[in-house]
Amino acid sequence: MTHYVCNGGCNGKSETPGSCQAEDCADHAKQLVHCDCVDDMHGREE
Ligand SMILES: [Zn+2]
Ligand SMILES: [Zn+2]
Repeated sequence: MTHYVCNGGCNGKSETPGSCQAEDCADHAKQLVHCDCVDDMHGREE
């Protein structure tokens, strides 16, 4: 299912496009990245 994730370290995940809401995240206020994974790994190896 399509979702959007943050790669800044907060493990943020949203079902709609947007920006990271975690103020202590390296990618705070940056756009979330589109992802289609089904295993919740978001394309990462581990
Ligand atoms: Zn984040
Ligand atoms: Zn994913």
